[in-house]
Amino acid sequence: MRESAQIVSRTLAEVAKHVTPGTKTVKLDKVAEEYIKKNDARPAFKGYGGRKNPFPGTLCISVNEQVVHGFPGEYELKENDIVSIDCGVEKNGYFGDSAYTFVVGECDEETMQLLKTTMESLYLGINKAVHGNKIGDISSAVQQHCEEKGYGVVRDLVGHGLGRALHEDPSVPNFGKPGTGKRLRSGMTLAIEPMINMGTWKVKTLKDGWTIVSTDGSKSAHYEHDIVVREGSAEILSTFEYIEEITKIRIDQLEVHG
Ligand code: MG
Ligand code: MG
Repeated sequence: MRESAQIVSRTLAEVAKHVTPGTKTVKLDKVAEEYIKKNDARPAFKGYGGRKNPFPGTLCISVNEQVVHGFPGEYELKENDIVSIDCGVEKNGYFGDSAYTFVVGECDEETMQLLKTTMESLYLGINKAVHGNKIGDISSAVQQHCEEKGYGVVRDLVGHGLGRALHEDPSVPNFGKPGTGKRLRSGMTLAIEPMINMGTWKVKTLKDGWTIVSTDGSKSAHYEHDIVVREGSAEILSTFEYIEEITKIRIDQLEVHG
């Protein structure tokens, strides 16, 4: 799992090199697929969901008001867009799954505040992912931090266990009450992934059957890490370090006046 999470993290950094105005999102998908295959891993999202409506891409690429599960395609990124890129791989039977929301070119302060708060909430949630706590401790940490800023915490999509499958029990909602839900035990592996909207928490699915958007058209941010529950503090298997080497920004440490 550590290896799979590392491949996902390095794939997102490869993609980061191409997140620039004028780039088509399908190009990002190609970069990711080639990198994953070069590392003897398999894109876990491609074909996901079964024969009826399989997900078409290696990456979920969700721009602005798209929350998650956007299709790579002909859309050209432009200045002031934000783009959430979610990547999953499988190697040696184990899954990795991580997401990062990028800024395209320069972004307004209000949007930067959304990104910063969402990333902070991810780490606040991870801080609660320790042996003896409960799922609700993670959920409420994320929710409180984001709702304090007036943001909408998406309800319809949640984090999850992962390991030999991409999505396993338990669900890890980004909303809930402390001290509730399943007890966390050392060795449990979870994907924690706040999906936070600038406006309403309400979302809907587009006609393609996959793309989730905020119902009010407000921008949405998404960060995801794979972690192992441990005594005292969680072990984070994925990392944003490789991305930050490319983008030269640490979003959770930005000074923003939004
Ligand atoms: Mg993901
Ligand atoms: Mg996930």
